[in-house]
Amino acid sequence: MRLSVIGCGYLGAVHAAAMTELGHDVVGVDVDPAKVAALAEGRAPFHEPGLPELLERGVASGRLRFTTDVAEAAEARVHFLAVGTPQRPDGDGADLRFVDAAVEAIAPHLAPGSLLVGKSTVPVGTAARIAARLAEVAPDASLAWNPEFLREGLAVRDTLEPDRIVYGVPDPTDVRVESDVALLDEVYATPLATGTPRLVADYATAELVKVAANSFLATKISFINAMAEIAEATGADVTLLADAIGLDARIGRKFLNAGIGFGGGCLPKDIRAFAARAEELGVGVAVEFLRDIDAINLRRRERATSIVAEALGDRLAGAKIAVLGVAFKPDSDDIRDSPALDVSLRLRELGARVVATDPAAIPNARQRYPELEYADDADDAIRDAEAIVLVTEWAQYRALDPGRTSALASGRLIVDGRNVLDPVAWRAAGWTYRGMGRP
Ligand code: NAD
Repeated sequence: MRLSVIGCGYLGAVHAAAMTELGHDVVGVDVDPAKVAALAEGRAPFHEPGLPELLERGVASGRLRFTTDVAEAAEARVHFLAVGTPQRPDGDGADLRFVDAAVEAIAPHLAPGSLLVGKSTVPVGTAARIAARLAEVAPDASLAWNPEFLREGLAVRDTLEPDRIVYGVPDPTDVRVESDVALLDEVYATPLATGTPRLVADYATAELVKVAANSFLATKISFINAMAEIAEATGADVTLLADAIGLDARIGRKFLNAGIGFGGGCLPKDIRAFAARAEELGVGVAVEFLRDIDAINLRRRERATSIVAEALGDRLAGAKIAVLGVAFKPDSDDIRDSPALDVSLRLRELGARVVATDPAAIPNARQRYPELEYADDADDAIRDAEAIVLVTEWAQYRALDPGRTSALASGRLIVDGRNVLDPVAWRAAGWTYRGMGRP
């Protein structure tokens, strides 16, 4: 099927390449000429494992193209909307300017019978508003909302083999939506054939599925981080606590890793936008707890910083501190609302000489925070450092060897912001090991 993907960032570029892989003919549209130029050459404009191979294959096949000209999407039958919905500069709500601009741009090119499919994460009520707008400007086209659940770092697999597919339609009981559902089923024929659950819901439910899922995940992380605060006050070990409660199948061990908390372009802004939208709807009290979830999360960044400050005391000012990680999570170069960078900036503010490193995200970080010092690899960052702070759990940092590290660093303080190192091994090698919520 001929498809278009409007907005080719972390979501859209992967979606476009994955849809080509599933056999479709795809044109990706973005307003960023540099991004389009890279993608058109089959190069990934950001770090995402598996994406370069997919792009290369897709572009070489002639079934995957990228353009800045939205008119080139006109022949597509299904148009996916994957533009950004960041936090508003003046508040907690979602900034829908990009969504609205993209809708206005594509509307004149929507052929009769074509389907516009929102994938961006939007406040509940957005799809109904856009549907009303389409009824004015493109009455022969229809709208569905198909929220995306991919995880950066695993985005290719998550797109090709999603754990569920949700379609939001105006009214799931109305026979008139059947043709749109059938069209989407054709798009997702491959994952559906393997038994992927597919749910058809009304617009509001589909929109809420996404923000509810992210709110639950954020809550799980902040719950264990709240337990870490209690553990710190009592000498308990939050990692053991998580293992023990996680063995209860109703709780589960996933997303129960205490540390410096969540960040990125989704969870923080999604829970804030959800709380803001609920307030607009007069039901703010229902998700008031998300404000606490956010606050607990942000406190952990402060806590990691204070562990370093307390341990180094007077020696902090001017001390070289190696910060391992700047991306918000491993296997990504995404630095949006990165807890790792937040810790770096806080330590710098306290007078430390912060040298940050990351396998993929330094170019993004350098552009956004030129005031920080960066090292190309962990060895350079660690050499002669007074302290090491692990803030993004890349595999190579998890595998850091205490003996080898001792030969490079001058100090013997390691702060494990992700609780991924073995305290026994580090202490045995003469280090002061400090975790998050561990004695
Ligand atoms: P992003 O910033 O990486 O990408 C957005 C892209 O849209 C950019 O390349 C931008 O240039 C482009 N764009 C903006 N206005 C445009 C327009 N009028 N026409 C064409 N292109 C335009 O953001 P992202 O991380 O890909 O997120 C996109 C949406 O997907 C957001 O709503 C986000 O919440 C949601 N989402 C993201 C993820 C994720 O892991 N990144 C996962 C699920 C859902």
